[in-house]
Formats: sequence, structure tokens, C-alpha cells
Amino acid sequence: MSSKVIPIADLRQLESLPAIPMEAAAPSGMLADTRGRHLHDLRISVTDRCNFRCTYCMPRTVFDKSYQFLPHAEVLSFEEITRLARLFVAHGVEKIRLTGGEPLLRKNIETLVEMLAALRTPAGRPLDLTLTTNASLLPKKASLLKAAGLHRLTVSLDSLDDATFRAMNDVDFPVARVLEGIAAAQEAGFENIKVNMVVKRGVNDEGVVAMARHFKGSGHIVRFIEFMDVGSSNGWRMDDVVPSADVVRRISAEMPLVEIEPNYSGEVAERWRYADGSGEIGVISSVTQAFCSTCTRARLSVEGKLYTCLFAHAGHDLRALMHLGHTDDDIAAAVGLIWQRRDDRYSEIRTAATAREKKIEMSYIGG
Ligand code: SAM
Repeated sequence: MSSKVIPIADLRQLESLPAIPMEAAAPSGMLADTRGRHLHDLRISVTDRCNFRCTYCMPRTVFDKSYQFLPHAEVLSFEEITRLARLFVAHGVEKIRLTGGEPLLRKNIETLVEMLAALRTPAGRPLDLTLTTNASLLPKKASLLKAAGLHRLTVSLDSLDDATFRAMNDVDFPVARVLEGIAAAQEAGFENIKVNMVVKRGVNDEGVVAMARHFKGSGHIVRFIEFMDVGSSNGWRMDDVVPSADVVRRISAEMPLVEIEPNYSGEVAERWRYADGSGEIGVISSVTQAFCSTCTRARLSVEGKLYTCLFAHAGHDLRALMHLGHTDDDIAAAVGLIWQRRDDRYSEIRTAATAREKKIEMSYIGG
């Protein structure tokens, strides 16, 4: 790693490097992009590896034995992640989600959680720190994560039907072990766990009502996600998408639902509560009801590239800036500039043709 600072003029010639403004403005805490969207959430992918091969995310045909995952030397260290996270927090980020790949595969992930949990917003508040997992390692890790300061958990579970789930994760992982992971997390003190179900027509959509019924009254919140055209390897087709309105209609027919207000502006899921007061569900409708206009999320990839949209083609190499010896002020200014120029609105302009474009894989950019 070099500590030499490259002059700005030379830096501009290195294509993937983010420009650093001539005057490094101090973080304002209220960064807005070209559409007036503030930077509020940061998703950090801590590994591009996963022990599942979900057919809609990391299909075996692509992510096989010969697939080149990032070498360890390219992956951000916990210190680098925390350094960058601190700069994002100074720019207004209040919520951080750790994801991947499978984040619990990252060795000693609880150490990173502890480091991030120590960060404070400019107003002195702790961050809303959360993590998305397939739950396979939760029985081992849940208490460590809780003790390290993780606030909340999201668990992915695409079906309660064992044969369907085993076929979707494509590593023959049983439903029972995900439920054990959820139970272990609850035992460790995690409450209101979110359960993500990606709904794909003809694959698992028959199980939507059963999933809602199973978690109704448990305090956990199922979120039904429309199958998205992330990356370029999942063979996405519009016909495979079950619109969230359909999901809500199917559940409401058996267990009446009432729409409720978001927890905060820019929340991804639309919230619905059971009319009988026994809890709530969420629906995430990136395809049929694009929420770009309120998107406040930045994404940091495994090797330190900043992406301003899940459907981006390219990122901004913050790790290179660190390795070139730039100061925190320089990097914070570069992040500020990138966000202020942000004009992404992919889900508003999605067509069958854009869906075929080469995009970044979900496992690398982080779900
Ligand atoms: N391994 C972790 C897990 O299983 O939750 C975290 C990473 S995973 C990429 C994060 C979330 O993205 C999961 O809930 C997964 O179901 C969702 N996901 C992946 N590909 C998707 C797609 N094409 N459309 C919608 N959601 C997707």
C-alpha cells in the first residue's frame, strides 16, 4: 500500500477514481443529490461469497467452481470499512446494513459490528445497525452479534415448503434450519426480525399466504419482495414478477390487511397491518411501483467501490483513494461530490431492454 498522495490532476487521468473537489468541503450532514434525495442509508457488502446458490441470485451455472470470487487481498479490511463508514455517517448516514454474499461467512464479523456500533451520528446518536443473512450460521453467531451491538436482523426465507426451498437455495438447505436460526436469534434477544421472501411466479408464489400465516402473531415481519432484474445472470423476465398488489390481495382475502404509514420517509417496504392487530407485513415493489424518488441508499461493495444504485453498471473506487494515501477530508469530499451528482432512477425507466444490460451482481454489491 502506498502512502504517496497523487496530485489531483494526475488522479483525474486514472479513470475509475472519483474526482476530489479542489476545495474539500467539510461534510454537511445533509447531502442532497440532483433530485433532492438525502444520503441516509449505507449498505455494506462484506463478502461476495455465499454458501447458498439461490437460483434467482447466484445461479450455479454462473457461480460454479471456476467462478472467480474476489481474492482476499482485494477485500476491504474491517478498519477500512469503519473508516469509510465514519465518513458516510458524517455526511448524514444514520442506518447501516451489512450484507453480501452471506455476511456471516466473513470471519469474525462480530468484530466489525462492534467497530460500527461505536460510531455516532453528528447529533451523538448510535446508528441503526442491521444485517441480512440466510440464517445458516445464526445458531453459532446470534449471541455474538447481539453482544457486539447489532440492533436488528433480516433473515431470508423464500418458502416454508421444504422441497421448494431446497430447490430455490440449490444447496439442499432445509427450512427447519432457517427456522432454528430465527429461534436462535430470538433467544439471543433480537426482536421483530424481518423475514425476506422473494416471490417468483410459478416457483414459490403459491406459498405466499402460508408464509404470512406462519409468522402472523409472532412479532416477526415478513416482507414480500418482487423478483428484480439485478445483475445479469438470473434470467429475469417480467412474466416471473408477481406484483405486490397481488400478494397483498391474496393475503388479505384470508387475513384482512390495512395499509399503514412508513416508519420514515424513504423506507423501502410498504407496510400493511393485520386488521385484527396481530402484526404487520411489508411489500417491496421495486418493479411495479418504483421508489427511486425516495431512495436514500448508497452501497459499498466488497472491495470498496461506492455505488449509488442497486442497478448500476459502475462504481467509484474509494479503496484506491485510501491506498493512494488520501486524507479523510479528501475522501469525504469525493463522496459528497458523487452523491451531489447522483441522478439514478433505474426502476423508473426499466424496460425489457434495460433488464438485459450488464449490471453489477447482487452478491457483489450487496442485497
Ligand atoms: N446472503 C444474505 C441473505 O441471504 O439474506 C444477504 C445477501 S442477499 C443478496 C440479500 C437479499 O437479496 C435476500 O433477501 C435475497 O433474497 C434478495 N435478492 C437476491 N436476488 C434478488 C432478486 N433478483 N430480486 C429480489 N431480491 C433478491
